[in-house]
Amino acid sequence: MDTLRLAIVGYGKIARDQHHPAIDNDAGYQLTAVASRNASVPGVANFESLEALLDQRPEIDAVSLCTPAGVRTAQARLAMAHGKHVMLEKPPGATLAEIETLREEAERHGVTLFASWHSRHAHGVAGAKRWLAERQIRRVDIEWKEDVRVWHPGQAWIWQPGGMGVFDPGINALSIATAILPRPFHLTDAQLQVPGNCQTPIAASLDFVDGDEVPIHAEFDFRQQGTPPIWEIHVETDAGRLTLEAGGRRLLIDGELQEEGPDAEYAGLYERFATLIAEGRCDVDVSPFRHVADALMLGYRHTVEDFVE
Ligand code: NAP
Repeated sequence: MDTLRLAIVGYGKIARDQHHPAIDNDAGYQLTAVASRNASVPGVANFESLEALLDQRPEIDAVSLCTPAGVRTAQARLAMAHGKHVMLEKPPGATLAEIETLREEAERHGVTLFASWHSRHAHGVAGAKRWLAERQIRRVDIEWKEDVRVWHPGQAWIWQPGGMGVFDPGINALSIATAILPRPFHLTDAQLQVPGNCQTPIAASLDFVDGDEVPIHAEFDFRQQGTPPIWEIHVETDAGRLTLEAGGRRLLIDGELQEEGPDAEYAGLYERFATLIAEGRCDVDVSPFRHVADALMLGYRHTVEDFVE
């Protein structure tokens, strides 16, 4: 297959930390251009807007949209109307309905739309799914806690409507849970802690249940300070306890390490994107996002002290 000429849109934290290195390390891609209002990248064509990029670089095959969800749908529609394949950072949009619009437009324009879930490419996730497929699940506990000031420094958008607050990282846990658990599950209770000066939660306590009444509990918290993040999922089964640690990079059974791998989630995303493009397919799974929408709809909101950056 020919090398894909790729553009990054929104050169912020995740573009810099993950997308750009993953693209550079993948021979299937050439980073050709960047569209960002306040950043530029040496060695590629830089533009202040996606419109200018599409106008002046028609040869580009695909774009990775690394902007916040609130602006991504309009950008995706524009890029697809210009015949570009599109990778969406997570979450795929600001509303569930707009993702249906995108899906329909991808089909109409005959391009690939990939709603990416990077945590699903963490090293231990595939093994966890295989192991759980053959067991009876009794209970699931999810703990996803990190310091917002370390992982989202200065990101005002995260506290605004559509920014999702603690669900921005929490949706990563839900992307893994929806991939490894054999049955669908749904929310029964949500307690949301919302700072008085913010529109989105800083912490969330969630209860779900699946069709067999298996309880699934999740604690998401942005207020972790001075200690490393906790990104863990524990599953009690009839044949032992499965644990995914380090965001899914480490898989343990009954406390014994089974698998551990490097941080290669974005390498996996770009490999998948290239496969989808080669096969002329889309991959748009909204199941993690649906749980967040349900939590924001059903959740009881508690006002807590103002957030200070
Ligand atoms: P970020 O650091 O704020 O970067 C996003 C970039 O998008 C900004 O630097 C900005 O670049 C551009 N942008 C922001 N608002 C815009 C607007 N209104 N119109 C056009 N461009 C705008 O955010 P991030 O952490 O990289 O997150 C971006 C997405 O990646 C989010 O959906 C997030 O959930 C996801 N993600 C983040 C992480 C993480 O650890 N940070 C991990 C995985 C996924 P310019 O000002 O230069 O245009």
